[in-house]
Amino acid sequence: MERYYSYSRYLRELFGTRVYRVTVDAGFTCPNRDGTKGRGGCIYCFSGSDYDPEKRRKSVREQIAQGIERVRRRYKAEKFLVYFQAYTNTYGPLEVLRSVYDTIREFPEVVGLIVGTRPDCVPDPVLELLHSYTSDYLVWVELGLESAHYRSLRWMNRGHGVSDFVDAVLRIKRFKALNLCVHVILGLPTEDREDMLETADFLAALKVDGVKIHPLHVIRGTELERIYLEERFRLLELDEYVELAVDFLERLPKETVIQRLTGEAPEELLVGPYWCTGRYKNRVIQLIRQELEERDTFQGAKYRF
Ligand code: SF4
Repeated sequence: MERYYSYSRYLRELFGTRVYRVTVDAGFTCPNRDGTKGRGGCIYCFSGSDYDPEKRRKSVREQIAQGIERVRRRYKAEKFLVYFQAYTNTYGPLEVLRSVYDTIREFPEVVGLIVGTRPDCVPDPVLELLHSYTSDYLVWVELGLESAHYRSLRWMNRGHGVSDFVDAVLRIKRFKALNLCVHVILGLPTEDREDMLETADFLAALKVDGVKIHPLHVIRGTELERIYLEERFRLLELDEYVELAVDFLERLPKETVIQRLTGEAPEELLVGPYWCTGRYKNRVIQLIRQELEERDTFQGAKYRF
C-alpha cells in the first residue's frame, strides 16, 4: 500500500501509463534578480534552479526534442510533460510566453505543460493564457512559496509576501482546469518544527493540488553559502528530515499529489547536507516510506480542515 499520493501514481491514473518530465530552460530571467522586485535573487538561487547552463544555449524546440529522445531511449517512454523550470517562466510579454509554450504543440507525444514561477508573477492574462492549453494538455502551475512565514521569506530574500501567494492561489483556483503545485523548503534556520508544520497546515487549508518538499541545502557560489559559512547554522540531519517529511505529509489532504520528497544538487556544487544529491535520492524516499510504515501512518492522517 502506498501511504502517500505519489506523482507517478497520479500520472499513471490519469494517462494509464508512465509519463516522464522533460525540463526546459526558455531563457527567462526573474523579477527578483533584475531589479524589478529585487536584486541578487533568493539567497539559495543557483541559475534559477537549473544546473545545466548548456541548455540555455539551445532553442526550446531543440531542448524538448533532445529531452524526449534521451528519456525515450532510457525508459522506453511514450508520453511526456514539458517542464519550464529555470527562473520565472511567466515573466515576459504575453506574446512571447504564448510562442514559447506553443512549442509543445510540435510534439504529439507531449501531453502536459508545467510552468514554474513566482506568486507575484501570475497576472490574470497569464493565467488565461495557461488555461487556454487545458483543452489539449494537462497543465500545472508551480509556485515557489518555500514557507508560510514572512520572516522566512524575508530571510531568503524572496521579494514577495505570504499575501502575494494567497492572492495567486485564489486567482489560480478560479481557473478550475489549472492545477497548482507549491514548493516548500524544510529546515530553514528561521523556523522550528511547529513553524514548518504550520506551512503544511496552511497549504492543507488552501487545498493546493500538489506539493514539492525538499530540505534546505547549500549550493556553492550562492548567497546562502556565504551566510552559512559565516553563521554556521545547522542543516537538517537525514533522520530529522525523514521525520519532518512524514509529519508534513500527515497534515496534507490525501488528494494532494506529492511531486517531490527531497532535494538533489550536483555533488561538485553541494556544500551540504551531503545527502542532497542524486546518489541519495532513492535512499531518502525509501527512508520516508519506511518511517510511514513504522509509524503506521499516512498522508492525511492529521489533516484537520
Ligand atoms: S524566484 Fe526563482 S529564479 Fe527568481 S531568484 Fe528566486 S529561486 Fe531564483
